[in-house]
Amino acid sequence: MPRAPKSVLICGGGIVGLSCAYYLARDGWAVTVVERGAETADSCAQGSAGYVSPSHVIPLAAPGMVWKGLKWMLSSRSPFYIQPRLDSELLRWGWQFARSCTPEHTRRAAPLLRDLCLGGRRLFVELAAATGNAFELRTEGLLNLCQTAAGLDHEAHGLAALANELGVEARVLDARATAVLEPGVRMDIAGSVYFPIDAHLSPRKFIPALRGLLAGLGVQFHWQTSVTGWRTEGGRVTAARTANGELQADEFVLAGGSWSGGMLAGLGVRLPLQAGKGYSLTLERPRCRVTKPMILTERRVAVTPMGETLRFGGTMEISGHRDQVRPERVAQIIAAAQAFFPDFTPEDFAGIQPWFGYRPVSPDGLPYLGRFGRHPNLTAACGHAMLGVTMAPVTGLIVSEVLGGRPPSVPLELLQPDRFG
Ligand SMILES: Cc1cc2nc3c(=O)[nH]c(=O)nc-3n(C[C@H](O)[C@H](O)[C@H](O)COP(=O)(O)OP(=O)(O)OC[C@H]3O[C@@H](n4cnc5c(N)ncnc54)[C@H](O)[C@@H]3O)c2cc1C
Repeated sequence: MPRAPKSVLICGGGIVGLSCAYYLARDGWAVTVVERGAETADSCAQGSAGYVSPSHVIPLAAPGMVWKGLKWMLSSRSPFYIQPRLDSELLRWGWQFARSCTPEHTRRAAPLLRDLCLGGRRLFVELAAATGNAFELRTEGLLNLCQTAAGLDHEAHGLAALANELGVEARVLDARATAVLEPGVRMDIAGSVYFPIDAHLSPRKFIPALRGLLAGLGVQFHWQTSVTGWRTEGGRVTAARTANGELQADEFVLAGGSWSGGMLAGLGVRLPLQAGKGYSLTLERPRCRVTKPMILTERRVAVTPMGETLRFGGTMEISGHRDQVRPERVAQIIAAAQAFFPDFTPEDFAGIQPWFGYRPVSPDGLPYLGRFGRHPNLTAACGHAMLGVTMAPVTGLIVSEVLGGRPPSVPLELLQPDRFG
C-alpha cells in the first residue's frame, strides 16, 4: 500500500510562506498554510518595489551603518529611523546589529547573499515560464542613480567594486550614458551604477499567480487563523495552536515575516527580529516613461515601473508594528523623486494613499533559514529584510531541500535560526 505523504504546516502566508508551500508541494508533501489574514489581505511583498536584485550583495549590517544610523536618527529627512524606546528586545537587537557591522561580516555574508539572490532570480525565470509570465518579470537590470560626484565615487568604489569582485557585473556610467539607457525621463544626476543581472516584477500579480500554482498542487489553506502557541512532545512540535483548534503535522515552517519572533512564544527559543516599516506610492499614470527600476541612491528610494504604473518606495522605520503613516517620511520619498527627476511635481503624488509594510529585519541582515536545534521539526524561513521578494523562491527551494534531507543549495551555517543563542 502506498504510504501517505508526510505533512507540513506553513505558519504565515506571505510571499516566503507561499514559496515554501510551492516547492514542498512539488516534492510531494501534503502542505497546509495557516495565515492570520484573510485571503484578500495584503502582505509585505505586495506594495514592495518588486526588485529581484543580485546586486544587493552588502548586508544591511555593514561597516559604517552604526554611525550613519545614529546620524540619520537626528534628521527627519533620513531614510532610516529607529524610534528610541525602552524595549529590551530592541536594545538587544541594536547591540547585535552594531556587533555585526564589521568588514569581516560583510566578507562572509556577501557571497552568500549573492548566491541566494542569483538563485532567486533563476527560479523567478522558471516561475515566469510556468505561469506565462503572469507577474511581468522583466530582466532589464537596475540603475543605482547617484546625484553627486561623491555619491557616485562611493558607489563605484564600494558596492560596484565588491559586486564585480563577486562576479555580479556592475558598470559605472556617467550621466550621459545613463540617459541613453533611460531616455524617457529627465534626471538630475552625476551618474549611475548599472547592474544588468537585476530584474523586477509586479508583486501584486505574483502572489495570485503563485496561489494559482498552489491550487493546482492541492495546497490547503486556513485563512483568518492565527497561530497562538504550540504543542510539543520531547522537543518535537506536534501541533500549532490556533483559535480554531490545533493543526497537526510532521513538520512545521515558521514564515511569519516580522511577526515570526513573537510566534515562537512558549517554545523557549528567541529569534531577534525588528519590523522595518517601509512605504510606497504608486502613480497610475506617471508623467514620464521609466523602463528600468532605479534606486535614488543618496535618498535610498526605489523606483519601479510596473506595467503602466510607476512605484516609488522607501524608508526603513524601526518603530514596532504601528499601523500609522508618518507623513514626514512619505514626504521624503516625494522630495527624492523631485530631486532626481525634475519633471515630477508634488501634484503628481496628490491624493495617492501611501501603502506601508513591515520588513522582517534580523540584526545581521541575513535571513533565518534552517531547522531549530531545540525543535528539530520546526524550520525557520523568515528575516529577509529588504530582500524577501528576491529570495522567496530560493528560500522555498532550500526549505524543501532541508525537509527532504537533501543538501541545501547554499551552506546554511550563517543562516542558522539559533545563531544569536
Ligand atoms: C517598501 C518596501 C519595499 C520593498 N522592496 C523589496 C524589493 O524590491 N525586493 C525585495 O526582495 N524585497 C523588498 N521588500 C522586502 C519584502 O517585501 C519582504 O522581505 C517580504 O515581503 C517578507 O515576506 P514574508 O513572507 O517573510 O513576510 P510577510 O509578507 O510579512 O508575511 C508574513 C505573514 O505571516 C502572517 N502571520 C503573522 N503572524 C501570524 C500568526 N500568528 N499566525 C498566522 N499567520 C501569521 C502575516 O499575516 C503575514 O501574511 C520591500 C519591503 C518594503 C516594505
